[in-house]
Amino acid sequence: STFDQMGIKDDLLRGIYGYGFEKPSAIQQRAVLPIINGRDVIAQAQSGTGKTSMISLTVCQIVDTAVREVQALILSPTRELASQTERVMLAIGDYLNIQVHACIGGKSIGEDIRRLENGVHVVSGTPGRVCDMIKRRTLRTRAIKLLVLDEADEMLSRGFKDQIYDVYRYLPPELQVDWLTERMRSNNFTVSLVINYDLPNNRE
Ligand code: AMP
Repeated sequence: STFDQMGIKDDLLRGIYGYGFEKPSAIQQRAVLPIINGRDVIAQAQSGTGKTSMISLTVCQIVDTAVREVQALILSPTRELASQTERVMLAIGDYLNIQVHACIGGKSIGEDIRRLENGVHVVSGTPGRVCDMIKRRTLRTRAIKLLVLDEADEMLSRGFKDQIYDVYRYLPPELQVDWLTERMRSNNFTVSLVINYDLPNNRE
């Protein structure tokens, strides 16, 4: 299949081709459409197979840039991965005017507050800092419709479980689906990625 056949908006297609992608990688062929169509997806793939790009382009597709609120939240185990995802999203979303903020430990809290209060569409961050921003009510969660736990197993092995769960409990109730809550409680993540969209009970 091709990117053209995925129902991706034109300005995003321009960005994808402009970035140098010609056709979707295997994981992109399998995961992009279900996510865009609102399914919850658990995807497992080796690194370097197009997972970060897959996350970036699905987030770009579902975000409505006319709404200046955080609509997608991506949690990553490391600052490097969170920043990498931010960079890819800004590159692919070059024609969308999408505001993405990397909310990561070690960077200025003042800058986080300034960016978030100005209004961003997407937050790509590490669990500790994101949790902090949510508790300060600087990061508003009410408009979030997509949650990505990138390298979820790695986040758990780094001891982020409580922070991820804290963040999760602040999300709109539609995003808190039973199967994911169960997995969080039981530490039962054997997957590298969980995506959870706003239609409960749909799962791939
Ligand atoms: P990722 O796993 O998303 O970091 O992708 C690994 C590498 O493959 C990066 O250099 C990406 O730019 C590249 N890549 C990802 N998806 C595609 C694609 N559909 N076509 C060509 N290159 C890609």
